[in-house]
Amino acid sequence: MRSRTGPFTKERSISVFQYGRVITMSILQKSYGKTLEGDQITEFILQNERGMKVHLINYGAIMTKLFVPDKNNEFADVVLGYDNLEGYLKNPGYFGATIGRNGNRIAGASFEINGVTYQLDKNEGENNLHAGFDGYNKRVWDFTVNEEENEVVFSLISPDKDQGFPGEFKVSVTYKLTSDNAVSIGYEGVSDKDTIANMTNHSYFNLAGHTSNSILDHILWIKASKFVPVVDSAAIPSGELWEVKGTPMDFTSKKAVADEIDADYEQLKFTGGYDHNYALDKRGKEQELIATVEDPKSGRKMEVYTDLPGVQLYAGNFINGDGDVCKDGVVYQKRSGLCLETQYFPDAIHQENFESPILKAGENYKTTTVYKFV
Ligand code: BGC
Repeated sequence: MRSRTGPFTKERSISVFQYGRVITMSILQKSYGKTLEGDQITEFILQNERGMKVHLINYGAIMTKLFVPDKNNEFADVVLGYDNLEGYLKNPGYFGATIGRNGNRIAGASFEINGVTYQLDKNEGENNLHAGFDGYNKRVWDFTVNEEENEVVFSLISPDKDQGFPGEFKVSVTYKLTSDNAVSIGYEGVSDKDTIANMTNHSYFNLAGHTSNSILDHILWIKASKFVPVVDSAAIPSGELWEVKGTPMDFTSKKAVADEIDADYEQLKFTGGYDHNYALDKRGKEQELIATVEDPKSGRKMEVYTDLPGVQLYAGNFINGDGDVCKDGVVYQKRSGLCLETQYFPDAIHQENFESPILKAGENYKTTTVYKFV
């Protein structure tokens, strides 16, 4: 079924034989209100047989809620978000959102491909952040539901020159909830001209539950012996890669986010805490475990797998200040959640020694990131 308006409150429950046993999963589909332009938005609630639930909406292809068990099998919603569409229409911090066509920053909001200069929005000083004012996080996506796979596929046709990028880019984002408590987010796309393709998901996790309001005691491990230093507080990379060893940036051994986030270290001063890309120690383009996050109190643990070269660790340093009432009546604070946004390195289009984010015309863009709860 492919639709923008879809029937409302439709429940599909399915039992399939998988992993040597019968498992039951369900997808509930219901109305989530209308945009100011009158587009009907749909919410999808995916559930697996262990009771884990993922809520998605086709506005921004956003993950709005994620219910995960703790060590006593008590469930909590572990992502930051809003209670309703109104919140997501603003969403200045990109809670749960799909970011595209390019995640992170492009210096000077312009770039050149094949000798042609393309201009993007300057939506953060002189630079472009998360593709500008009209990101894919603000689009109404088409959708398809695959009950057998317990997945929802969101798709979008982004025209030539959309946001300033060359080429019509047909892109899809597939959210799948597996029976082993993983949320897999798969991106696929094709463009008719050479373009930049660098999609990511901007979920803010708090494994103690989103209402707990701090990730400082979360224990983090990142498989990266190098990170991408930035020039100043505008957070544009210098183009170098620095060793994390001997610096507060080092998460190659597990440590609490709090341990060194406020250290007297220039890179952390620039960005008010961790907001840096890590150059992953990967063997190639295969899926690999690249990070873990643990909340010692609840016992919840998340593993992150990706096939991409980098991950942006953003500790929610700028959440503070807007005073917005968010999900369940909570007003989030600085560091209420942390993001692990898998991606090509920031501003890679301007740095020859960074892996290129260019998608060639007619080639398939395909990448998957998995957030698994163990
Ligand atoms: C960036 C932060 C930014 C946040 C919200 C993150 O991906 O690295 O600098 O504040 O997104 O826009």
